[in-house]
Amino acid sequence: QSTGGPAHAALYARHRAVMPDWLATYYERPIEIVRGEGRRVWDAEGNEYLDFFGGILTTMTAHALPEVTAAVSEQAGKILHSSTLYLNHTAVELAERIAHLSGIPDARVFFTASGTEANDTALLLATTYRRSNQILALRNSYHGRSFSSIAVTGNTAWSPTSLSPLQTLYVHGGVRSRGPYAHLTDDQFIAACVADLDDMLGQANGTVAALIAEPIQGVGGFTSPPDGLLAAFREVLDRRGILWITDEVQTGWGRTGEHFWGWQAHAQAGPPDILTFAKGIGNGLAMGGVVARAEVMNCLRADSISTFGGSPVTTAGALANLTYLLEHDLQGNARRVGGLLMSRLRSVAATSPVVREVRGRGLMIGVELVAPSTGEPSPQAAKLVLEAARERGLLIGKGGRPANVLRIAPPLTLTVAEAEQGAEIIEAALQDAAKQLEEG
Ligand code: PMP
Repeated sequence: QSTGGPAHAALYARHRAVMPDWLATYYERPIEIVRGEGRRVWDAEGNEYLDFFGGILTTMTAHALPEVTAAVSEQAGKILHSSTLYLNHTAVELAERIAHLSGIPDARVFFTASGTEANDTALLLATTYRRSNQILALRNSYHGRSFSSIAVTGNTAWSPTSLSPLQTLYVHGGVRSRGPYAHLTDDQFIAACVADLDDMLGQANGTVAALIAEPIQGVGGFTSPPDGLLAAFREVLDRRGILWITDEVQTGWGRTGEHFWGWQAHAQAGPPDILTFAKGIGNGLAMGGVVARAEVMNCLRADSISTFGGSPVTTAGALANLTYLLEHDLQGNARRVGGLLMSRLRSVAATSPVVREVRGRGLMIGVELVAPSTGEPSPQAAKLVLEAARERGLLIGKGGRPANVLRIAPPLTLTVAEAEQGAEIIEAALQDAAKQLEEG
């Protein structure tokens, strides 16, 4: 790969001078991506990369998918004007399809411009419906960047203020690879988490509005609870009328292979009361939303509008993207190619001193890294692997606390050959990182 020249250095300096210090970037020399096609992107210096992160799972189908480009350009050539004050044919059609796909009976759909805003809306609905600002959330969760969504974000590394509009009760059930429950079997883990939830509810001050949970924690490092945990939680919640919000911002649209939504891995739990989505549905366009039972969605009494939620351009792109996804059974592709990639990475992991665990579902695969000398979580290893993979032409993400998990989430059209190519690069990058760590 060619290294960053003066133009790149100047842009990065300007970025740092004008953007907030807390805005994270990857790599010693952050990449300026200027073009994409299929599962590949190119930077401003002409380097090509296989994209295994899709800008944090936003590229759901493929980069520059002709169907999405055509729908967006056609709409952009007609009108960009946006607001829910007027009817929008594609928004209605997209909402109908999402309502049907959600599995929620009598579902209503509200479009937003981000996942954060979707979760804000879900929390507004739950607190209004239940007339309570007490929310249950999972440890190690990430739900967004706004005042209410950081109030339910369990990890303080991602939640910069302790001032909160919500009273949040954090329960076990998120990350499992560390902490007191790490050594438990699945059944023991579920029983321990339910006991913890019961205990927390005993401490709650009156009515609790809702539990918000990611079926697989995304930023938290692709950690899956055992199947059935959310069903066991649901039983406890139902006894008290507490709503269940499933945050499907990373797990939706078939990415997990076996299921269209992450919550369906806990099928007996469903359907949820509220489901939030974003990222992949727009394939890069700013689109998110909330699905809820009509009774819950309609509990808000004030007249309201959204300027950008469900705009003509984003809904046109999202509808084309969703149509492509369903017509080409990309969920099936995520299951097949994701399964191959997972077993390939597991065999790489078996001989790597830096890998503790390969986990996930479909095309949502986490690789947890440790220091070979101590076996402790190693953010340094993740940093080295990301840099080494980038040098070899592969983009991956990282997450977890303390940022020691590789996050692999390619566009769902990934081919077997591309999975193989990516796995080879990851294998080499893991070797590079292990060598550097061992050399100290
Ligand atoms: N929920 C989850 C599970 C997420 O992963 C994210 C983004 N990483 C969000 C909500 C917030 O989405 P956005 O960045 O679009 O506001």
